[in-house]
Amino acid sequence: MAYAAFCLPRQSVFNGSLTAATRHWAAPRLSKGRAAIKATTTDPVRSAVMRSVKSKDTAPEMLVRRLVHGLGYRYRLHRKDLPGNPDLVFPSRQKVIQVNGCFWHGHDCLRGARQPKANAEYWLAKVARNVERDGRNEAALREGGWDVLVIWECQTKLRDREDLAGRLRAFLSAEP
Ligand code: ZN
Repeated sequence: MAYAAFCLPRQSVFNGSLTAATRHWAAPRLSKGRAAIKATTTDPVRSAVMRSVKSKDTAPEMLVRRLVHGLGYRYRLHRKDLPGNPDLVFPSRQKVIQVNGCFWHGHDCLRGARQPKANAEYWLAKVARNVERDGRNEAALREGGWDVLVIWECQTKLRDREDLAGRLRAFLSAEP
């Protein structure tokens, strides 16, 4: 029963303003049965949030995929042989697009600046490690000849979609 707690919509270790964001990122994984089975730790909130850090198929990522598809580009997902398993990979163009959650990847924005209510030290250290790892992965990709575009969660909001589509088009159509 330990995992039941984080299935509740309002369960979060964060204050109210971040609850929605946490749920937003955790939802795709929590909706899968195996996520519940894998929750063996005695701290269900922590395990749920930890999984959300690595979650795939998040709403912002799905939006970017739809936009890119609409622009006529085809891609591979999460290629395991590339540093950090980039979200969208365009092999023939040597380009990758990474879609990052603002809090978990330490974006310099309001969403990214939110403070966890509980265990702040633990979570902020985790975010710092994520930022460091993201930097290493991006450097390794660029060294390998890949062009990298990072799209942040806060840039996928409705009012910014036209800008976002424009940025995606510009990035993908540019000559290397
Ligand atoms: Zn942001």
